[in-house]
Amino acid sequence: MRPEKRQAFTLVELMVVVLVLGALTAIAIPRITGGAFNAGVNACRKNVDIMNSQIELYHSNTGTWPVEIGEVTKDPNYFPDGPPKCPFKTPYVLDENKRVPDHLHINTSAVKKISESLLSKD
Ligand SMILES: [Zn+2]
Repeated sequence: MRPEKRQAFTLVELMVVVLVLGALTAIAIPRITGGAFNAGVNACRKNVDIMNSQIELYHSNTGTWPVEIGEVTKDPNYFPDGPPKCPFKTPYVLDENKRVPDHLHINTSAVKKISESLLSKD
């Protein structure tokens, strides 16, 4: 009588698969979260470019510069879909040159990772 051949994975095979999946996840997760941060920064820069273009259009139409940014962003002639918002919820302001300056964003997950690595070295 021939012994029945069993169809199953060995424990070593399963552990290799789990280790490979863990390594791929460890590589992919930081890249995905970093990509989301960079996409938000690029969206914010585009908002700033569009607002500065619309401020110049406002000046061309009215002959005056806006005193505050809401005069342009809340006007449906310039922003029919409403005022643009920073993806990181930083408010846009108008500087003394009647321009919306670029502002900094902080990648909180990167800061957390750096601070954790600095704390673990003590
Ligand atoms: Zn922003």
